[in-house]
Amino acid sequence: MKKIIFFSHNDNKIEEVKRLFEETGINILTLHNFPNISKPNETGSTFEENAKIKSSYGYKKIKLPCFADDSGICISALDGFPGIKSKRFLKNNDDHNKTFITIINKAKELSNFHAYFQTSISLTFNNETIFFKGVVRGKISSEPRGKYGFHYDPIFIPKGSEKTFGEMSIEEKNKISHRSRAINELKKFLIKSIN
Ligand code: IMP
Repeated sequence: MKKIIFFSHNDNKIEEVKRLFEETGINILTLHNFPNISKPNETGSTFEENAKIKSSYGYKKIKLPCFADDSGICISALDGFPGIKSKRFLKNNDDHNKTFITIINKAKELSNFHAYFQTSISLTFNNETIFFKGVVRGKISSEPRGKYGFHYDPIFIPKGSEKTFGEMSIEEKNKISHRSRAINELKKFLIKSIN
């Protein structure tokens, strides 16, 4: 069985990735299998750069093909912000609701509700790195809705839906999410490469 490292400690992501790779003949190892490996600083200025910092570091340390992801939400009314700073933007504001109201008010003020989530995955092997991307376009809701998911899910309505991500079950969200789209691209590439 082929081994590949997913450079992550995040159990939700690991579960999602492992599920998508079931029955592929590819064995996903994670940072839980390598507890002594530290994480590099994500100093890039794009999703791709940050993903590459992690996947190339993992490949160098573990000497097995390694992939990493980086995601975020880009909001038109905020000129594409918070993007790569999505996590920090919420962390700085412990009360998520306050941040949501700020975002919603800005979208209303500019009558611009466009937003998208992006995931970039970087795969490093043989000192070479390639990228996969998943995007889901949609809009900011006029109020936070839903109890599922995490972070920005209650204020994002994907195109073609009436519900926010926060009102969708994991299965429903995973069918269309930026992350699952990017992972599926990676999966297609890996299956093609090992056959
Ligand atoms: P990460 O790179 O996947 O860890 O994502 C960085 C940050 O982007 C997260 O901490 C969230 O704030 C935001 N984000 C990414 N994907 C999602 C999502 O599916 N729902 C809500 N927020 C997300």
